[in-house]
Amino acid sequence: MVVGAQWGDEGKGKIVDLLAERFAWIARYQGGHNAGHTVVAGEQRFILQLIPCGILRPGCRAAIGNGVVVDPQALVDEIETLERAGVKVAGHLFVSWRAQVILPYHRMIELAAENAPGRVKIGTTTRGIGPAYEDKMGRRGLRIADLADADLLRAHIENAMAEKNAIAGALYGTAAVDAGKMFETYRELSRRILPYAADVSLLLNRAADAGEPILLEGAQGTLLDIDHGTYPFVTSSSTISGGACIGAGLAPTRIGGVLGVTKAYATRVGGGPFPSEENGASGDMLRERGREFGSVTGRPRRVGWLDLPLLRYAIQLNGIDSLLVTKLDVLDTLKEIPVCTGYRLDGKPAAEIPARAADWERLEPVYEVRPGWGTPTAGMRRLEDLPRAAREYLDFVAAQCGTEIGLISTGPERNESIIVPGSQLDRWWRGASSAA
Ligand code: GDP
Repeated sequence: MVVGAQWGDEGKGKIVDLLAERFAWIARYQGGHNAGHTVVAGEQRFILQLIPCGILRPGCRAAIGNGVVVDPQALVDEIETLERAGVKVAGHLFVSWRAQVILPYHRMIELAAENAPGRVKIGTTTRGIGPAYEDKMGRRGLRIADLADADLLRAHIENAMAEKNAIAGALYGTAAVDAGKMFETYRELSRRILPYAADVSLLLNRAADAGEPILLEGAQGTLLDIDHGTYPFVTSSSTISGGACIGAGLAPTRIGGVLGVTKAYATRVGGGPFPSEENGASGDMLRERGREFGSVTGRPRRVGWLDLPLLRYAIQLNGIDSLLVTKLDVLDTLKEIPVCTGYRLDGKPAAEIPARAADWERLEPVYEVRPGWGTPTAGMRRLEDLPRAAREYLDFVAAQCGTEIGLISTGPERNESIIVPGSQLDRWWRGASSAA
């Protein structure tokens, strides 16, 4: 399984795309069409927001688990884009019957609420994902399976619209949306989607029984987890490894290992705590060199230094076996690289990650400044080619985290990667390759 060890955008897209070669299945277990991976396949560039990138590999199947919230329009658009590019989707894509459906009123409510006075701005992508999860937990959601029943779909939309129009009108002055038109549109979208609907949990369990390797792909990152992240500046689902069991319908005993992706520095999109944020000239440099602008929204990302207390927290929560460090090359021009090694709260060392929003504000990061290497690592593919200071930087991170580094990424392309010889990932990679 691959999870983001920071606030998302760690470069999971590239990593999953690289690893996909050794897997028969790639499955998503949470989130919606806000994940936004850019995947390059030959001459073509795709932004896949909902469908796992395994769809681009002929031998691989892509699954959308029950824990994902599915926007039918977004799904149909992605299927059509892929088909137009000659990718075979039928027979390769499976969407859980139990996944929740995002409807237009989710977006309407989210937009209105996010802009309402007095509300803490979370900085969501306003794709209706949060409200769809609210309806799921409120037991008034619509699932993919329900799309097969036109009467049920009509009744659901009519009832929901009566309620949502009343709420959005009363609270935010939003104009009412027509339920009849929505039903027609979603009836048509359902016809396009239902051929892909399946019991994804059953398929994955059967695949696991048959010894087929399955890669579970987390979206967003650990610090955006609904329970363990920087609440309320989080996403609406369980992003951590435990969430995969629920969101894919696979038991914990089925999970063979957890890979955690982190950048060699840190970024965050939207509001919320970011103790090691860098607002000065070095920050601008990281943003430019790292092209830190959202792949879905185009928003400039906040940038900062690697935060080891948070990385250790992510390792603990996910049970990360191996860290995969991306974007090392972005640090190439720096003379010195600060790394946050701990925090102080009210002048005393803080041992725990705060639960109270107010405590985050008072947290002071403690930095250790590591020497930079000042030479290009971009595109390097062998550990021994890395400059000594770059290796020492990585060794320092691994020692401070008590976890091995299994992979170092030095550029956006698949092959701009170093699988660290002797690491667990390396052993597995070579074993899987000889088996394949
Ligand atoms: P994800 O949501 O975790 O997949 O992350 P994003 O796709 O938002 O961000 C990763 C971006 O960084 C993509 O544009 C990648 O092509 C790029 N990228 C990934 N790894 C590296 C790397 O090692 N070096 C550089 N320079 N870019 C990278």
